[in-house]
Amino acid sequence: MNEFIEQKVKLRWPERLASGYEVVVLGGGGHGLATAYYLATRHGITNVGVIERSYIGSGNSGRNTTVIRANYGVPEAVRFYQRSLELYQGLEDATGRWIMHKEKGLLWIAHTEMGLRAERARAALNQAYGAETQFIEPEEIKAICPQIDLAGGGRYPVLGASYHPRGATARHDRVVWSLAEGAMRSGVEVHQQTAVTGLVLEGDRAVGVKTTRGPVRADVVVMALGGQVSTVASMAGLRLPIRSHPLQAFVTNHYQMGLDAIVASTELLFYASQTARGEILIGAEIDRQPSYSYRSTFGFLSACAGRALMLLPFLADLRVLRQWTGICDMTPDFSPVMGPTGIDGLLVSTGWGTWGFKAIPAGGEAMAHLIATGEVPELIAPFGLDRFARDLPLSDRGSAGTQ
Ligand SMILES: Cc1cc2nc3c(=O)[nH]c(=O)nc-3n(C[C@H](O)[C@H](O)[C@H](O)COP(=O)(O)OP(=O)(O)OC[C@H]3O[C@@H](n4cnc5c(N)ncnc54)[C@H](O)[C@@H]3O)c2cc1C
Repeated sequence: MNEFIEQKVKLRWPERLASGYEVVVLGGGGHGLATAYYLATRHGITNVGVIERSYIGSGNSGRNTTVIRANYGVPEAVRFYQRSLELYQGLEDATGRWIMHKEKGLLWIAHTEMGLRAERARAALNQAYGAETQFIEPEEIKAICPQIDLAGGGRYPVLGASYHPRGATARHDRVVWSLAEGAMRSGVEVHQQTAVTGLVLEGDRAVGVKTTRGPVRADVVVMALGGQVSTVASMAGLRLPIRSHPLQAFVTNHYQMGLDAIVASTELLFYASQTARGEILIGAEIDRQPSYSYRSTFGFLSACAGRALMLLPFLADLRVLRQWTGICDMTPDFSPVMGPTGIDGLLVSTGWGTWGFKAIPAGGEAMAHLIATGEVPELIAPFGLDRFARDLPLSDRGSAGTQ
């Protein structure tokens, strides 16, 4: 997509916050902005205000490791993430902006008999529900990724993998900016440095929000607040099945280009890919202890780096350049929550945990459809908040890339 390289994203910030909008979206992360973008571009609903307490992409959407894939472990998730993967493939054409989308292929390595069974099952299920994944043997893994030590440092031998050739990455902040620009171009207002401090209810209905810049009325309020969602939802007396956990990641200095695939291992609890600048980007498990702390820890860094070295020994030559943390909205079943909240006029898009970057286009598309038509799209119907009360969880811990 070379024609996009030199173009600067044009963001037009409004001066004043209006007293009301048809739709108010809380949170200027990928999910909030994608909802606004599709409302405007697909449904012609442009009287939309996005309210962001800091700057757009300052939450997890600007902190993630940018992996896009659809190789999930339950049919509902495979269908949903496959839709998102396809929307990502066309997002540069749709927005006219370069998001640095690159198909790399993703290897999900198994080191135990149980891991082998899981990856074989993943491949079969993915194929049945429309995502391209195949099970491959160690010599095929080595051909795709010569840097892998098949002996796994002598402790974690590589026994096989599921291979997802459409696995990709895209530059996270460019995704955020492109969606924001597309929404703004259609008339959506995005307000940065404006925090939501209250949800306004009249009877059983949400009718607006209080912000640090004054009250705003709305016909529909959408919460897309990442790890902060429970604090805002509680302002309407709503208790969500969400726990906020820190998730850390780090990058090394640059290295010769050549780690072409994205490499993941559930048993070693890490995944790695090479950025366009040549750095190796590594992430893994959430912090056990729920908290809102953005502090990065040496414990995580040394443990994760040690595990990554077992599979990718060349990392020993590299130095860690930067480490950071985001706060993830984790659900008990490791699947997202999208749709009504039980309070009229109040919708939610949450539970994106460690996996929601890849879901930004499909999540936004589905939420916009729900707002515009009043109907929950079939694609996201299984992900409703009421699934917990109805005892219909969508357990998919094995696909989250964390534990
Ligand atoms: C280290 C790390 C690695 C990850 N790696 C991947 C990956 O490789 N692939 C993948 O698919 N997913 C990954 N994720 C998860 C992914 O980043 C998130 O699920 C996704 O970005 C969530 O988007 P969001 O829009 O829901 O939330 P966010 O991007 O967090 O946006 C929420 C916004 O709400 C704002 N906000 C909060 N409170 C208020 C308030 N009171 N008023 C107004 N605004 C408020 C915040 O400032 C923030 O900008 C990773 C996450 C982390 C932290």
